[in-house]
Amino acid sequence: MESENIKCLIIGSGPAGYSAAIYAARAGLKPVMYQGLQPGGQLTITNDVENYPGYPEGINGPEMMEDFKKQATRFGTDIRYGIATDVDFSDQPLKVTIDDNLELTADTVIIATGASAKWLGLESEARLNGSGVSACAVCDGFFYRGLEVAIVGAGDTACEEASYLANLCAKVYMIIRRSEMRASSIMQERVKKNPKIEILWNTVTEEILGDTAVEAMRVKNAVTGEVEDIPVSGFFVAIGHDPNSKIFQKYLKHDEQGYLKTIPGTTQTNIDGVFACGDVQDNVYRQAVTAAGTGCMAALDAERYLVSKELH
Ligand code: NDP
Repeated sequence: MESENIKCLIIGSGPAGYSAAIYAARAGLKPVMYQGLQPGGQLTITNDVENYPGYPEGINGPEMMEDFKKQATRFGTDIRYGIATDVDFSDQPLKVTIDDNLELTADTVIIATGASAKWLGLESEARLNGSGVSACAVCDGFFYRGLEVAIVGAGDTACEEASYLANLCAKVYMIIRRSEMRASSIMQERVKKNPKIEILWNTVTEEILGDTAVEAMRVKNAVTGEVEDIPVSGFFVAIGHDPNSKIFQKYLKHDEQGYLKTIPGTTQTNIDGVFACGDVQDNVYRQAVTAAGTGCMAALDAERYLVSKELH
């Protein structure tokens, strides 16, 4: 195995990772970034981003991530292809293995590996992703104002997003696979009382219909067996997220869903020199701008740590 020691190693290349890189590079930490499985992160599968400040006309997701990358490169970030496949945080310096064959040591590690939305697994869902199918109502709901949409899920996220969509759309179908919801009672009451939301209980989605954009959904009532095609223009999936934290869980404190825990008000994890930012440590806000904010915090925290250890 080859070996290399890095002052500031950033894992992940979404808004959190790139913001950390920009700050770390400008502070002279010579950051090295490994881009991970999905270079550019979740925004690379989003068409239009209209809620990131600084883009008054909006911008498409991949283009925005190219801008982030250019800015990080301009200040000298060493951006590399590769996936972190293992870590050893039992001692200092920290050890990270890339692509199973390259072992690096690092004085600080910034984890910005994000989270992945869970999907139903339908062929039509993947084909129409970004063309009417979305896993983020706050990001994409605006494109369906005045139209009829559907949302799948019965947790707090689905309830919150159904209410959000009801403020914009003509009608919201909420597709729930059982006869009860998992969401907290206050959230349940809010959707049940909303006249724009129609709840389809005991219902599963068989297919999303449309060639190049969503036109309708085929749903089946699991009790009666009745199958129905319902016209909708947008189809939102809100059945949870999986934080990309598996390789870190042995060393880092995390909640029962796998979100990494940080000391409140900081990005510091329970291991010295290891910081977490963006969606891998946030199951509440999950926005590009909040991820970027915590990425900045991680770089500042890393810099302070290095100075305190006389490593910078
Ligand atoms: P949850 O895991 O709580 O809920 C997922 C929902 O999706 C469940 O209703 C589940 O159904 C449904 N589901 C899962 N798989 C499928 C499938 N294949 N087909 C149809 N439905 C499916 O995820 P959330 O994202 O809602 O919430 C995550 C955490 O974040 C929770 O702890 C939540 O309380 C918290 N949160 C808090 C908020 C707040 O307080 N403001 C806002 C948002 C989230 P089933 O019930 O049948 O398993």
